[in-house]
Amino acid sequence: MNLRTTLDHQFSKRIQDVFGLKTAPLTLDDLKSTLSERLTGGGVEVEDLFAPRETRHEVEFAGEVRHTHCALDALMLPFLTGQEVTLRSQCPHCDHTVTVEATRSDFRSSPPEAVLSLGVSREGTGPAQQYACPFINLFPSREHYEAWATDTSEALIIMLSLSQAFSLLGGSACR
Ligand SMILES: [Zn+2]
Repeated sequence: MNLRTTLDHQFSKRIQDVFGLKTAPLTLDDLKSTLSERLTGGGVEVEDLFAPRETRHEVEFAGEVRHTHCALDALMLPFLTGQEVTLRSQCPHCDHTVTVEATRSDFRSSPPEAVLSLGVSREGTGPAQQYACPFINLFPSREHYEAWATDTSEALIIMLSLSQAFSLLGGSACR
């Protein structure tokens, strides 16, 4: 999966600001490197991925049902822990549930054409849970994403296929 597409300049800058990165990621590959450093370098604590209350992202993980701050946090869990996760995430546009069985070697979604949004608010900095997580969601299809993104003018957002999301988190395409 090609992650070399150049990101919009403004989007890159906002990703840098909101996540406190040293440099702005110019491509998804750059973002993948940054994520990988955080995931393997002890920069992400498993417990920090879980929300203290219900969110639209419910995960079955290690025999428990919990909630994460965003869809990407849930999908990071297999890479961080080696354990599989079942994510049930509600479309922010229509509340339709998208399910992803995620392991380190594969993401399988239902429906299969589900997509992920990766977004950041246009303004403000502070906790990523506030400035990014509301814009990182799963959708049953590209059409649901587009309908929601059109209505979400307060954020800069891109769409990823689940296989792109898998690559972004460090999943290997060779399987
Ligand atoms: Zn929807």
